[in-house]
Amino acid sequence: MERTVRVRFAPSPTGALHIGGVRTALYNYLFAKKYHGKFILRIEDTDQMRLVPGAEAYILHTLQWLGLEVDEGPIQGGTFGPYRQSERTKIYQEYAAQLIAKGKAYYAFDTPEELNAMRERLKAARVTAPQYNTVSREWMKNSLVLPKEEVIAMQQAGVPCVIRMKTPHQEDIRFHDLIRGWVKMNTTALDDKVLMKSDGTPTYHFANVVDDYLMQITHVIRGEEWIPSTPIHVLLYRYLGWETSMPQFAHLPLLLKPEGTGKLSKRDADERGFAIFPLTWKDPTSGVYTQGFREKGYLPEALLNFLALLGWSPSNQQDIFSKEDLIKAFTIERIGKSGIKFDIHKAEWFNQRYLRAKPDEVLVAYLLKALEENEITDTQGKALQVFRLMKERVTFPQDFWLQGKFFFTKPTVYDEHILKTKWTQQTRSVLQKFCNTLKTLVPFKDDVIKSTLERLIEAESIKINQVMPIVRVALTGLGAGPDLMQSMELIGQKECLSRIETFLEQYPSPC
Ligand code: GLU
Repeated sequence: MERTVRVRFAPSPTGALHIGGVRTALYNYLFAKKYHGKFILRIEDTDQMRLVPGAEAYILHTLQWLGLEVDEGPIQGGTFGPYRQSERTKIYQEYAAQLIAKGKAYYAFDTPEELNAMRERLKAARVTAPQYNTVSREWMKNSLVLPKEEVIAMQQAGVPCVIRMKTPHQEDIRFHDLIRGWVKMNTTALDDKVLMKSDGTPTYHFANVVDDYLMQITHVIRGEEWIPSTPIHVLLYRYLGWETSMPQFAHLPLLLKPEGTGKLSKRDADERGFAIFPLTWKDPTSGVYTQGFREKGYLPEALLNFLALLGWSPSNQQDIFSKEDLIKAFTIERIGKSGIKFDIHKAEWFNQRYLRAKPDEVLVAYLLKALEENEITDTQGKALQVFRLMKERVTFPQDFWLQGKFFFTKPTVYDEHILKTKWTQQTRSVLQKFCNTLKTLVPFKDDVIKSTLERLIEAESIKINQVMPIVRVALTGLGAGPDLMQSMELIGQKECLSRIETFLEQYPSPC
């Protein structure tokens, strides 16, 4: 009988969720929905030292904002709970005891100093990666080596001890990955991983495997950085006698820096000024805020569409996918192996597409809200016309205001670059003449303004691309914007004249 698909997103609440983690959540969600399965949220908070306050709530808010509804999780509950690993300690302790009883795990009493000394000794013997493994464990302080009575005595005396996994000597461990095919690793590369720490709590590997089994997870879809851990997990399934119900693995390709080399990092995003967190995050230690995709103006549906295509590709040329389309089209077979360049311009492109597709009333509302926030009353009812002029130019909702506020308020700063390159004696004289003609211009309509300017340009034998930017800067302060003649008509005759005059006063002699 086919098992119901059950997948989990298993973040550790150690900080803000990185955009790569959001993609992992999305792929799990799409896969679950496609096969009418369950999308489970499991909070992997075993490492209490690394817990960050607010990180779990941040994960929940992110999933909520993106509309990735969780079927079972710490808030939703479910029959396989609890869904926070810190609440499952007893369960892990039971299974660790089973492994000890089967001889697949052992107690180790080595102190940090002894562990250090072991590493130093191995380094001196030119071992490149010194570790606690099938060889070195022979001369360490553990229950494989020490007499039974001594082990019991130490336990009774409360000597701190961990439980380590007993890895087999020189054995090839294979597993099948749905994206990469067969993956093989020899146990010589593995160490005897700590499964239970001395405080009685589990490590990632152990809790992860126990929970995937108990929560009846059918597919583990996670980032490729977990490939080296998978042989350890495979061994644990074997040791616990769960091999036949082992989930299938699918390791997602890395997200790479925009130039295509190396893993995408927060630093790359900070340096280039793009977001890497889905929502704004305030670091509780430093108090530093990092703006998220949401606050930068990304729409959740645009971000989902962008992320879906970072690793997965549809079988046709389609690029715009609603969440429902994605659920239908998504297959693990069409996820690639190689890393994906993180191209923020592509994300902007998606946002622009989704924004423009919104009904006019929704878009105008963005502008009206900004006007209200800036205490501007749209006395002449310009908002709708401004919106029409701006609609094709905006990428983010706030652009309506940022790029269109000049329709409502005078510019206070002027584009430096345009001034440097276009402000000459000649452009000044043309602007002055243009201003004089505008005073008596009737009607003050875009086509009339346009022909007036064109005549002037011809008479003065000056290039249009010398004059237009200066007119635009004088009126709007900006180097680019919507159709200038239509903008002038909207700004109005009196206001245009006043702005040009102010500009001419402020910049009397071209530099
Ligand atoms: N807690 C791990 C993480 O933070 C989960 C890895 C996995 O999915 O197995 O990514």
